[in-house]
Amino acid sequence: MKIPFNKPHLTGKEVHYIYDAVASGKISGNGKYTKLCQHIFEDHWRFKKTLLTSSCTDALEMTAILMDIKPGDEIIVPSYTFVSTALAYVRQGAKIIFADSRTDHPGIDEDKMEELITPKTKAIVVVHYAGVACNMDKVMEIAEKHKLFVVEDAAQAIDSFYKNKPLGSIGHFGCFSFHETKNLQCGEGGMLVINDERFIKRAEIIWEKGTNRAEFFRGEVNKYSWVDIGSSFLPSDIVAAFLYAQLEHLDDIQNKRKRIWHQYYENLKPLADKGIIKIPQIPNYATNNAHMFYLVLNSIEQRNELIKKLKEKNIHSVFHYLSLHKSPYYIGKYIGKELVMSDHYTDCLLRLPFYYELEEEEINLICDTIKLI
Ligand SMILES: *Cc1c(COP(=O)(O)O)cnc(C)c1O
Repeated sequence: MKIPFNKPHLTGKEVHYIYDAVASGKISGNGKYTKLCQHIFEDHWRFKKTLLTSSCTDALEMTAILMDIKPGDEIIVPSYTFVSTALAYVRQGAKIIFADSRTDHPGIDEDKMEELITPKTKAIVVVHYAGVACNMDKVMEIAEKHKLFVVEDAAQAIDSFYKNKPLGSIGHFGCFSFHETKNLQCGEGGMLVINDERFIKRAEIIWEKGTNRAEFFRGEVNKYSWVDIGSSFLPSDIVAAFLYAQLEHLDDIQNKRKRIWHQYYENLKPLADKGIIKIPQIPNYATNNAHMFYLVLNSIEQRNELIKKLKEKNIHSVFHYLSLHKSPYYIGKYIGKELVMSDHYTDCLLRLPFYYELEEEEINLICDTIKLI
């Protein structure tokens, strides 16, 4: 038995909808399935305005353009995150001010955020790690006090909530990923959520290569022209057709993933109670969308030993992220403080296999192997 880390789940109708898109003769961006998907997102989660993108990275880049980030502007970003969370702003010339993680959760430490703000700060980017909300009341309060934008990197956070508000709907912008490792997936894909009305019109223009093509197709202008900067951020309707099939099965996907998460949790809780490992804690204000199951070990040696033990049983576990402030790209530019918790998660966090088809007996085997440490 071989247990991979991830297996992209197919709900069954992906190819059917792709075929339908192909047969319709229109498969470029902003077509039937793009509109259907955006409609579901806006209807089901009450997002004000959504635009499908080719990736979450694209959605983050769109926020950098929309916030008019210029060289010298400072953006507060957690160091413990995927490269794109920082990269999107670096491309606009921003200086990244890296923030540390919480002791009880890999998300940004909201209590240590305000001290990073300077007159040059433009925005705070938070990551809802593992789909578990940051303390958004606190984040929004600090942002409002200092007149900063808030971007939610909600790449992992589809269908997860903070005090009954869907993640991605609270800051000025929310950015989602439908990469094959996420709960809903279409290989590569993403979405920008625009919560502040002032940005909607410009977002559509930036999305369509700096043209007012969207307005033209709605009949609001009688020709479309080049009016702003932008790029080709929109995905093909083939990709949207795939995503549509996934959206139809949202409840089934989420229920199954939650069952898997709880099997891990119940199985590993006794080990966590003994203090041998740490398992995820969900704060009262947050929901769990079962994006991933991770452990925090006590040392890098213990983690590497466990990876090896799992591998001997053909179980593929993975660690991530490497603190961005220590990355080869940024280390020479970094002048901030030690980020102790970010480095701790870099060394000690381990992600366990997590995908729809994972069977209970496989989870038991994984947990039994972990219990050998
Ligand atoms: C997956 C992920 C991204 C990148 O998403 P893409 O769709 O691959 O661009 C960004 N941020 C976080 C936190 C992620 O987990």
